[in-house]
Amino acid sequence: MKVTEHIEKAKGKTLFSFEILPPKKGDNLQTIFSNINPLMEFNPPFIDVTYHREEYEYKELPNGLLEKIIIRKRPGTVGICAALQLKYKVDAVPHLICGGFSKEDTEDILIDLNFLGIDNVLVLRGDAIKSEGVFRPHPNGYKYANELVEHVTAMNKGKYLHDEYASGATNFCVGVAGYPEKHFESPNLDTDLHYLKKKINAGAKYIVTQLFYNNQKYFDFVDKCRNIGITVPIIPGIKPISIKNHLTVLPNVFHIDMPQDLVLEVEKCKNNKEVYEVGIEWSIQQCKELMKHNVPVLHFYSMGRSKNILKIAKELF
Ligand SMILES: Cc1cc2nc3c(=O)[nH]c(=O)nc-3n(C[C@H](O)[C@H](O)[C@H](O)COP(=O)(O)OP(=O)(O)OC[C@H]3O[C@@H](n4cnc5c(N)ncnc54)[C@H](O)[C@@H]3O)c2cc1C
Repeated sequence: MKVTEHIEKAKGKTLFSFEILPPKKGDNLQTIFSNINPLMEFNPPFIDVTYHREEYEYKELPNGLLEKIIIRKRPGTVGICAALQLKYKVDAVPHLICGGFSKEDTEDILIDLNFLGIDNVLVLRGDAIKSEGVFRPHPNGYKYANELVEHVTAMNKGKYLHDEYASGATNFCVGVAGYPEKHFESPNLDTDLHYLKKKINAGAKYIVTQLFYNNQKYFDFVDKCRNIGITVPIIPGIKPISIKNHLTVLPNVFHIDMPQDLVLEVEKCKNNKEVYEVGIEWSIQQCKELMKHNVPVLHFYSMGRSKNILKIAKELF
């Protein structure tokens, strides 16, 4: 079923969902399953699985020269989605990124997803390769997420890259990312929203937000979206903080602000065990307020671990 159909079926009740990462290459799925198992009690209608682009590493050769190696540390998104649908009878939402893929690669992945009975994709641009710093599209790929959304929309109409090989239409429900505190490359929130609307105009049917810790930022973001005619569901992304380092790491990685009240609470903690509890309590309060505002779904960034999310879900659902 499509994410949007799950939301419609819930008739205003807030749903629970979460995102997982594929395991590092060589690890098996068991750890993922043991983290997911306890969360299934809260009936997530869908589970997202992230996609990870290639990275470059340099290996020193015996002659002292450096060899550039291209590796994908977390492959397996498509396979995990199939495994989730089979094991839990839940809708898996694979993320699909522009970075590192040609248009043909992308179309092949989408054809696989369609054959596997996967109805949803979260379409993203992806970030720059760590060692490059600036996002560079594949020479025959897409520069922005809206272009990839257009590709999926065309396939939904039965139009493939090379028309002479065209077969039946796909029927994907496309989600895209939104940034209540703006995307870090954007000069301002209004410009970012202009491009968010472009993704919706290209055929995206729902938005999942970047994580945030101040609900007011989400509420203002939703208001601004509605004011420019974005009417699709806007799903808030939640990540409980769990270690003191998150105070600096999360703003650095995700370009978000931490409210001062949260910072003070964390700074009072004597150890990370206490920080973990502060993170849980903050998320519970955040989610309770979001639920009062009838958000369609609470979507948790689990990073593959579930104990804190389990505690939060027990208080909310
Ligand atoms: C919910 C969520 C899930 C994510 N999952 C993954 C994942 O699985 N794998 C992964 O690698 N990354 C993931 N990311 C990170 C994401 O790939 C990065 O944030 C990336 O930098 C931007 O992706 P985007 O799809 O928002 O890009 P875009 O929508 O393409 O926007 C990128 C920037 O370009 C601007 N822009 C957009 N369109 C245009 C245009 N047509 N012309 C000019 N400027 C434009 C935007 O304002 C923005 O500043 C996720 C992010 C979120 C919020």
